[in-house]
Amino acid sequence: MSHPVPERVMLFPNREVGIAWSDGREDYLSSRALRIACPCAECVDEITGERRLDPERVPEDLRIDRWETVGRYALRFHFSDGHDAGIFTFESLRAQAG
Ligand SMILES: [Zn+2]
Repeated sequence: MSHPVPERVMLFPNREVGIAWSDGREDYLSSRALRIACPCAECVDEITGERRLDPERVPEDLRIDRWETVGRYALRFHFSDGHDAGIFTFESLRAQAG
């Protein structure tokens, strides 16, 4: 079975990110929730797995300015707070949407 990939990624004015997957599923994720879940080494301690980012410090009106694909497995989001280090695998995005 092949893994679903995003066919379309949409940035909405309400700061949600919409992803239309190749298997027909559509997910809508909040930019702020994605920022808080950022998996990069700056936001998560690589050794302990402990989250370093304090969600309280992420602005309520945080948005995603743009995005790009990384290889064939992930998306990178450019957040309005200037952070763009996180690589969000398709799997993690599907898991986050539940
Ligand atoms: Zn990060």
